[in-house]
Amino acid sequence: MKIKKREKEYGRKKCCERCGRKRGIIRKYGLHLCRQCFREKAEELGFKKYY
Ligand SMILES: [Zn+2]
Repeated sequence: MKIKKREKEYGRKKCCERCGRKRGIIRKYGLHLCRQCFREKAEELGFKKYY
């Protein structure tokens, strides 16, 4: 059996978990959020504005 690493990585949604946008997705920290949502989420998580 051949398992493609890419399939695993891309098995998740390609769009923002929060609003569904497909542009500007940030996949850092295991999040799949667009820039806007990332910023909001980052504040919730205690990251200060890196973006
Ligand atoms: Zn979003």
